[in-house]
Amino acid sequence: MTDTRKTLVRRTPWPGSVTGPIGTPLQPSVAYTAQDPDALDALYTGQTQGFSYAREGHPNASVLASKIDAMEGVEGGIVVGSGMAAVTAVMFGLLKSGDRVLGGTQLYGRSLRLMREELPRMGIETAFSDPTDGAAFAAAITPGTRIVLVEVVSNPTLRVADMHAIASAAKSAGALLVVDNTFTTPGAIRGIDVGADVVLHSVTKLLAGHSDVTLGYVHAADPAHRKAIYDTATTFGLTPSPFDCWLAERGLFTFDLRFERASANAAALADALAQAAPVSRVLYPGRADHPDHARAAALLDGRFGNMVTFEIAGGREAANRLVRAAADLPFAPTLGDVATTLSHPASSSHRALSVAERAAIGIGEGTFRVSVGIEPPEFLLAAFRDALGAV
Ligand SMILES: *Cc1c(COP(=O)(O)O)cnc(C)c1O
Repeated sequence: MTDTRKTLVRRTPWPGSVTGPIGTPLQPSVAYTAQDPDALDALYTGQTQGFSYAREGHPNASVLASKIDAMEGVEGGIVVGSGMAAVTAVMFGLLKSGDRVLGGTQLYGRSLRLMREELPRMGIETAFSDPTDGAAFAAAITPGTRIVLVEVVSNPTLRVADMHAIASAAKSAGALLVVDNTFTTPGAIRGIDVGADVVLHSVTKLLAGHSDVTLGYVHAADPAHRKAIYDTATTFGLTPSPFDCWLAERGLFTFDLRFERASANAAALADALAQAAPVSRVLYPGRADHPDHARAAALLDGRFGNMVTFEIAGGREAANRLVRAAADLPFAPTLGDVATTLSHPASSSHRALSVAERAAIGIGEGTFRVSVGIEPPEFLLAAFRDALGAV
């Protein structure tokens, strides 16, 4: 009787093939074998290229990173386990105790939390200023400010930051401009177009695009910053899963088509909502009645994106009725899916704020944010017509 117990734990050789796969291989291996210790030395000192241990890097992360690099027009970005992992790697990679960070007033909820709760615990001072007011924001970049963190388009009121004023003020103050490009995507604007020192993404959203992946991306222009961010991500264990990277790369194949279709749908939906009786206000940067329309037109070059925010009267009651009637529109606190999703900031992304704090940035019980998908426009307009009819 042959003893199979030994062969069972040995890897069966991959079948040879004179052909190569057209699809991207998925490589989940945790570790990579090297020929000998000299070969490992050569790898770790950068004389040769390759992988050793997946937390430090793996092929599917490299493939995905180079694809997003190409979209941003840069080289050497890295993929991490989530959008928040990207924000975390930047902050902990580039800051030390005693530094100061200035953020936009309407940052993503967890970025706000990182700045309000976590960074101060590490002796890092944080402050906020309105990025739509370039002069006020510039004045808030006081000496000692090491990082300025802004989102080009804010959530959920879709206000557009005065990026050129902020970039030049950050530069003259010697602060690093970190741009969270999640909402806008390179489909509308690239980090390098606005002089970002660091650009980051929640790949989870429009880039991966199918609501089945949680990932982030970060790139720094300065190689020393890139190394610091990479070392932090590796040490803190912010590693992405190979399967998630594989899925996200697959999602990117259709990014251009998805972004174009979703943006066209968003423009049509914004116009239709503006005509609908129960809607008291529509916010879409592509509309002439948006407070930052002129800036959006110049900065985004007509690519206004897939996000639309609107307001209905009637408080929580009316909001509940709308969501229950919108059976074809998933009510979910995310964005960037192929399907149109509806979110209610007061009960989800902005629930940690007080009523007064929400009111100050224009969020009420009747505020809805729509992440517009790629459905046929007739379907989408009919779904909203029906849902609003029930209000
Ligand atoms: C979702 C989001 C994040 C965080 O990304 P995760 O992948 O959920 O960690 C950061 N910034 C913005 C603007 C986002 O929308």
